[in-house]
Amino acid sequence: KPFKVRSCIQDVLERLELVIQNQQAHIVIEMPDEKLILQGDRFYWTQVLFNLVENALKQNPRKGLTVTIGCVRENGVTRIWIADNGIGIPSADLAHIFRRFYRVEKHHSQDDIKGTGLGLSIVKRAIEAHGGTISVTSTPGDDTRFTIEIPLDAEARLTDTDSEESLPAS
Ligand code: ATP
Ligand code: MG
Repeated sequence: KPFKVRSCIQDVLERLELVIQNQQAHIVIEMPDEKLILQGDRFYWTQVLFNLVENALKQNPRKGLTVTIGCVRENGVTRIWIADNGIGIPSADLAHIFRRFYRVEKHHSQDDIKGTGLGLSIVKRAIEAHGGTISVTSTPGDDTRFTIEIPLDAEARLTDTDSEESLPAS
């Protein structure tokens, strides 16, 4: 059933509260309409947002990172973006990061950053299975930005019962 995006974002931030505190990360929320309502399954959206926000924090363990979470609905399309000003993704890797098990070599060579490389592939498949798109742009150190767009009619079908994918908890 419909729910407020704001409260969904709040859930995600609560789950990541310790990481946010440890990294002294700044969280910026860009939502022209604070009362914006999303259709579909709240749990599903929480997992999608969690994966993207977790990535932004996890790949950028330095202090003082800014993570921006935004959401707007325009012309029957809901657009959600998660951006950070961290290490970024080299352009050669950008085309591949949605593939299963793909992780940027350079990021993980010293490896204390754990992960399976599955998060993004699952998010992408789930979004696309419901008629949406997800894309990424990156200017290392300045702006790495994931953008989800989903038409309103497709959004209403985002329920866990008809979703083929279940999203990982972390
Ligand atoms: P998992 O999500 O399964 O825990 P993971 O986070 O490594 O593992 P993905 O979420 O699929 O896997 O991300 C794939 C890779 O893309 C990451 O390992 C990282 O190299 C790169 N990446 C993803 N998001 C960012 C980001 N915001 N900044 C820099 N690199 C990123
Ligand atoms: Mg991940």
